[in-house]
Amino acid sequence: MSERLIDLRSDTVTRPSKPMLAAMSAAEVGDDVWGDDPTVLKLQATLAERTGKEAGLFFPSGTQSNLAALMAHCARGDEYIVGQSAHTYKYEGGGAAVLGSIQPQPIENAPDGSLPLEKIAAAIKPIDNHFARTKLLALENTIGGKLLPAAYVAQATQLARDRGLSTHLDGARVFNAAVASGKPVGDLCAPFDTVSICCSKGLGAPVGSVLVGSRALIDVASRWRKVLGGGMRQAGVLAAACLYALDHHVEGLAQDHDNAAHLAAGLAQIDQITVQSHATNMVFAQIPEAHCAPLEAFFKERGILTQMLYASRFVTHRDVSRDDIDTVIHAAKQYFAR
Ligand SMILES: *Cc1c(COP(=O)(O)O)cnc(C)c1O
Repeated sequence: MSERLIDLRSDTVTRPSKPMLAAMSAAEVGDDVWGDDPTVLKLQATLAERTGKEAGLFFPSGTQSNLAALMAHCARGDEYIVGQSAHTYKYEGGGAAVLGSIQPQPIENAPDGSLPLEKIAAAIKPIDNHFARTKLLALENTIGGKLLPAAYVAQATQLARDRGLSTHLDGARVFNAAVASGKPVGDLCAPFDTVSICCSKGLGAPVGSVLVGSRALIDVASRWRKVLGGGMRQAGVLAAACLYALDHHVEGLAQDHDNAAHLAAGLAQIDQITVQSHATNMVFAQIPEAHCAPLEAFFKERGILTQMLYASRFVTHRDVSRDDIDTVIHAAKQYFAR
């Protein structure tokens, strides 16, 4: 195995760079549970400002940030409308139900990642003792690497508001969405009451997510964060990494998107592979099942880490270069040429 790995399993695998580590070690810190950590306060204020919201709240993970948001919007016996393939529904261990006593009302995502408006409308329950109270619409952008169309987001959130629902965006990769669409991140966040943003994905921080929203909602989420065990003490060392990422790593997301397009084009030249790519940092490839495990092993021998299941996902990020992508394409061609 070569020394340096080309890891395409996720954009969570990036390592903090030397200057990021320097920013972390230079961070001014305090006890954030007491509200005393100046670097955490700065991160929260910075993201609130960039997203056009009143307040922000730092979390150890996006899972916890999403959960605290759901719990801020919904009480016991309430429900939220969400996509079948949404992270907050499918990939967070059922936390809303388990820990929040919140009933999910999942809807099949359309191929573009949206939730069809008529299905949202039909899922909103009348106010009646028989039903959970429908309180929230939760969307995700990007979803499966796809950008939610802005016109759709405007319509869906308007529908929610008209029916008295609040709105949450799982914006784990909303900076990818902003860079790919050429829109300010504030425009993408504006239609939502709360947005959860991951600094530990393509932005390249080792840890941390920030929830943004109104002061009132953030205050409620802050209480739930404590209840969920997410109150952190001298968290400024982590917030410093997130601030560094926001200052230095946003523009570079365009390179990740470009690398993903390059990878998609290269893999598409291989007859046995069918490629789907979207505007951001993910490439989905359908590889005949019999080849998945052997190709994964072939890659691994060449220092390339992938997760080969049917419709394999390759994720580009700042620790993968253009040359690395060429190495991956070359290895895939070599494998299928044998
Ligand atoms: C990664 C991710 C999260 C949160 O993940 P954590 O690993 O808990 O930080 C939430 N939503 C989406 C869409 C994600 O990709």
